Amino acid sequence: MTQVDDQEKRYEEVFRSLKTDPDVVKIGYVYVDIPATIDRLVACSDGLCMSSRKFKKLKGKTCCTTFNVPLETEDVERLACIVDEVKEIRDVGKAIEKAEGWWRHDEDGLWLEDRPSGACVFLSVPPEGPPLCTIHEWALTNGLEFRDYKPETCCLFPLYLAEQENEYLVTGYGSRLMLALDEEESEDEIENFACLCPAPGVGKPLLVEQQQELEYRLGKDRWGRVLGRLREMGHPV
Ligand code: SF4
Repeated sequence: MTQVDDQEKRYEEVFRSLKTDPDVVKIGYVYVDIPATIDRLVACSDGLCMSSRKFKKLKGKTCCTTFNVPLETEDVERLACIVDEVKEIRDVGKAIEKAEGWWRHDEDGLWLEDRPSGACVFLSVPPEGPPLCTIHEWALTNGLEFRDYKPETCCLFPLYLAEQENEYLVTGYGSRLMLALDEEESEDEIENFACLCPAPGVGKPLLVEQQQELEYRLGKDRWGRVLGRLREMGHPV
């Protein structure tokens, strides 16, 4: 059995199991993992993970400096159209030159290239302030929608959106269901991320924090119906 067959089989099994999973609510064609996306609070704010005094010990342990970021072919195609302009921002061109490219291909798929520090080649530090994603920065500077260019995984993190034959699962990174879908991933890497360990009384449900992403990817009407139903059920979204 090939790796692709294996993944398809895993997706079929997990999506079948969702129908009777007590942690999951089905609304139309969307399954929502309640513990992973509503009970779980997050606080992602600019630079919290990189520069806040309180979290200084976590410097270097952020999504953009820790993970191998997987890419879809579409991500590579979209980025290829703008990469020459993004390379002009600060040291990004040099980082890409040093890495001999901004993406790579291996037996497990396509990935964003890293700097020697482990950070993504597109993560760059302005003279003042915390490191920024220069794809995001380039899009905002040009008045464009950053989601049209930035890799989907980066936009969604720490949310995890899986699709199987027109059905969607909305879950969280490192959740039981995400790990069932993607056996390569491990929960350990993210357990100390500042955004996922908000202080008591701080933070929003993951699904609320990332609802613009979900609206963008699932469509306003479909996402509106999901939110409406969750509210009727008494969930704080
Ligand atoms: S593309 Fe941007 S958001 Fe994604 S890992 Fe690189 S710097 Fe971070």
